Amino acid sequence: MTQTAASAPAESACAALVPAMTRICGPDGVITDPAELRTYECDGLTSHRTAPALVVLPATAGQVAAVVRECAAAGVPFVARGSGTGLSGGAMPRADGVLIVTSRMRAIIEIDRASRRAIVEPGVTNLSVSKAAEPFGLFYAPDPSSQVICSVGGNVAENSGGAHCLKHGFTVNHVTGLEIVTPAGELTWLGDGTGASPGYDLLGAFTGSEGTLGVVTKIVVKLTPLPEAVTTLLAAYATMSEGGAAVSSIISHGILPAAIEMMDALSIEAAEAAVHCRYPEGAGAVLIVELDGPSPEVEAETAVVRELCEAAGATEIRTAAGAAERAVIWAGRKSAFAAVGRISPAYIVQDGVVPRTALPAVLGKIAELSAATPGVRVANVFHAGDGNLHPLVLYDDSSPGATEAAEEVSGRILDLCIEHGGSITGEHGVGVDKSKYMPRMFADDDLDTMQMVRCAFNPANLCNPGKVFPTPRLCGEVPGVHRGAPHPAVASGEAELF
Ligand SMILES: Cc1cc2nc3c(=O)[nH]c(=O)nc-3n(C[C@H](O)[C@H](O)[C@H](O)COP(=O)(O)OP(=O)(O)OC[C@H]3O[C@@H](n4cnc5c(N)ncnc54)[C@H](O)[C@@H]3O)c2cc1C
Repeated sequence: MTQTAASAPAESACAALVPAMTRICGPDGVITDPAELRTYECDGLTSHRTAPALVVLPATAGQVAAVVRECAAAGVPFVARGSGTGLSGGAMPRADGVLIVTSRMRAIIEIDRASRRAIVEPGVTNLSVSKAAEPFGLFYAPDPSSQVICSVGGNVAENSGGAHCLKHGFTVNHVTGLEIVTPAGELTWLGDGTGASPGYDLLGAFTGSEGTLGVVTKIVVKLTPLPEAVTTLLAAYATMSEGGAAVSSIISHGILPAAIEMMDALSIEAAEAAVHCRYPEGAGAVLIVELDGPSPEVEAETAVVRELCEAAGATEIRTAAGAAERAVIWAGRKSAFAAVGRISPAYIVQDGVVPRTALPAVLGKIAELSAATPGVRVANVFHAGDGNLHPLVLYDDSSPGATEAAEEVSGRILDLCIEHGGSITGEHGVGVDKSKYMPRMFADDDLDTMQMVRCAFNPANLCNPGKVFPTPRLCGEVPGVHRGAPHPAVASGEAELF
């Protein structure tokens, strides 16, 4: 476990900010009690913990801006936090900094039926947007499995995905405007809310920047018409490779389901123990395929998908008869991360991507890795349609050396993803957890160029420092192989360091 203690000067810098923060957020909007501060010491990545020096709970965008201005003037780092469900330590606080929590900013400001859009505050939970839009025949498409609790502000920062992103796209495809507070404390808008603003795509750059470019205070999201029909199929297979073959076959037939999810025997066992989802007994793999759209299209495609699943060797195929049965099928999948806690004392949730065609090879190698590591098992539950793996590395943290062995397996899985042309993260972000893997995927030039974007928004590096990048650098430093020589982009006049 990584634990950081606050240094005395840092504590006093934050202590000096308490009167100003209390004036801005009110006495009930500032937390200084050490026991209460510990509530915020980690996000969903509980192996990394640091209690913040100070927590503020602003209620308006103006208050966020005033808080950030105070931090900027005092040179105090700050981190934004939504619901704290992130799995890469992105919202992990700084021991010498202020944590800005958006849980008091939960207004759905507007649902505009005609323009099919909503304007929401950052602390609004993902699912509540869809609930508010439902009476208008609309929904908010990105659906992380944590959607009951995670915030839309957190979704923007992580560019979150979910089961239905295969067809409907990620958060970045559904955000058309952001009100942000810059790291200097200025309120401004990125994007005009129509998705058609000219100029550089700063909205696209900000979405997925993991809280390193500013604090989101309002979000304009697209709403999607509720589909006329939805069919959910569950297909069971003896082996993962048969299930994988069914996925390839469906996609190569030109069918784009809303979701294709896959679970292996270990994750089926865990889900069954947790939520009694009644998946076929003894299955080596289950595939969940959901089709949505106009009724005739869904009906025709369902018939084809059934045939393709059968041809790939399905031992059983069930079609949900209605919403209740659909909910039971999804309960198993959506509970899978938490469910493995029933069959293992500790586990790491990994997130990597491979090209869909590489799934069988990579899953085979993960199985070999797990078999070769005593005390470590890997359960696989993943978005099969887009090759986004979520291997759950199970171990007993009371057993000497098991944590290190699990971390080794977890890192090797990311190497496999890179070796097969994939990525070290699909949707959970880099945060603190994966910053050390960035150089395995990106060359120094790539990382330097990313730093230039960070510097353009966040030159003092006070906004969520120490995340995403392997070694924190200040703007103006000439990093990596270019030490002493200009970066090629600078030499060519395309960019400047400041
Ligand atoms: C059981 C479980 C299932 C999950 N399933 C999925 C899934 O299917 N798909 C998926 O993509 N993720 C999933 N996640 C990960 C997580 O829920 C998402 O990353 C989510 O978007 C985080 O939202 P949050 O409000 O909890 O953000 P936090 O954890 O509070 O913060 C996440 C990041 O966002 C930044 N941030 C938060 N608010 C703001 C703001 N207002 N302005 C700027 N930066 C901000 C933080 O600094 C941090 O870097 C899952 C997590 C769990 C625990």
